[in-house]
Amino acid sequence: MTQASEDLRQKLLAIARAMNGMGLNQATSGNLSVRCDDGFLITPSALAYQDCTPADVVWLDCSGQPKDEAQQRKPSSEWRMHRDIYRHHPQAGCILHAHSPYCSVLACLERPIPPFHYMVAVAGGDTIRCAPYATFGTQELSDRVIEALRERRAALLAHHGMICCAADLDRVLALAIEVENLARVYVLALQVTEPPLLSTEQMTAVLHRFQEYKA
Ligand code: 13P
Ligand code: ZN
Repeated sequence: MTQASEDLRQKLLAIARAMNGMGLNQATSGNLSVRCDDGFLITPSALAYQDCTPADVVWLDCSGQPKDEAQQRKPSSEWRMHRDIYRHHPQAGCILHAHSPYCSVLACLERPIPPFHYMVAVAGGDTIRCAPYATFGTQELSDRVIEALRERRAALLAHHGMICCAADLDRVLALAIEVENLARVYVLALQVTEPPLLSTEQMTAVLHRFQEYKA
């Protein structure tokens, strides 16, 4: 393990622990990955993040094959979804999948997040789509998620949770927090009434502003 890969593994585990610590995810649900050389590092399957050491993080090549033959841990069961998102989103440096509470509420209702708030544009368009249900860990789920993530950085997974991708680990956690907050506000608004939606023109104006707003 090189020092660079050791540092990246530590950072990956720190962000995975942070996402659980702030209630974005529970126990061994969810998974996190980051690009590394010609492949990616991904959290091991069914192992609590607080019990993981850097050596437990699994390194896969871009086709999803283990790069380290001595690795005993199995990669996250969602490795296909991570592999396929990296293929379709060259700008994505890391991917976070969580069973966050409010995204899961909407996902269980098979409801996307419509443009009820301008910050929906943070995911790259005027709606955060909800991928139709498929069994966890399958190619079918991955295919549906790829479709839902077309020109987007975040999506809900029906009867399951959410997924998002960003340039780096700090940004992917920040995006997951923002998407979960949007889901929370939308669920709260729905308790009062069906909120009115922003128009395509209004959301296009926000998307243009976001281009200028970037740090
Ligand atoms: P893993 O522990 O295999 O990453 O699975 C968790 C999960 O969220 C499956 O969708
Ligand atoms: Zn999951």
